[in-house]
Amino acid sequence: MLNTNRESTKIVRRRPSRFDLIAGNVCLDFVNTLDDRYTKPKELLGTYIDLVRFCEDTAVMDSRQVDRLFERGQTDPDHAEKVLGWARELREAIHDVFRALMDKSPVPPAALARLNAQIQDALSHLRLVPVKGGFEWRFDDFGELDSVLWPIARSAAELLASDQLPYVRACFSKTCEWFFLDTSKNHQRRWCDMTRCGNRAKVRNFYARQKNSC
Ligand SMILES: [Zn+2]
Repeated sequence: MLNTNRESTKIVRRRPSRFDLIAGNVCLDFVNTLDDRYTKPKELLGTYIDLVRFCEDTAVMDSRQVDRLFERGQTDPDHAEKVLGWARELREAIHDVFRALMDKSPVPPAALARLNAQIQDALSHLRLVPVKGGFEWRFDDFGELDSVLWPIARSAAELLASDQLPYVRACFSKTCEWFFLDTSKNHQRRWCDMTRCGNRAKVRNFYARQKNSC
């Protein structure tokens, strides 16, 4: 497993969060940026700016890095659009790998190959930086447009190689199925979020029971 030390840079959030971050893990939250994936897919990463905002919301980049990428995205929109396409491909690769693991099916080789390519690229930008009492892994430069993909690919690599892997779940709601990491004590979490899906299911069950008892 890779070193999981988080960067010590203090992240200051200036804007309210745009994404519903319920997964407890960056790469799983990233998978959820295609909402209602299995029913009526809704793309939450409409533009390169959305992608940068995702990195801001998940605190994998600080405000200075985010501002630089906003600017660079505007000066090179064609490249930014390309990176957005790569990001969606990375997201689908991460989805396909975790979905297969949850379904206990073979991991699709194409998805794993795509993910591995992104991981190799991301890791080539890591370096050791001395900090108080030791060292930390840090990305060398968040100025490149595709640097938004690095922390996401790294997050997937870390989770896949960790002992947390058996606790990756999909929300029980068939119209939702958002991914999350179940860190609850008994590992019995069923819903992405109680208000989003849990309560709706409870209400449905309540009325179903009433109907049956009539
Ligand atoms: Zn849900």
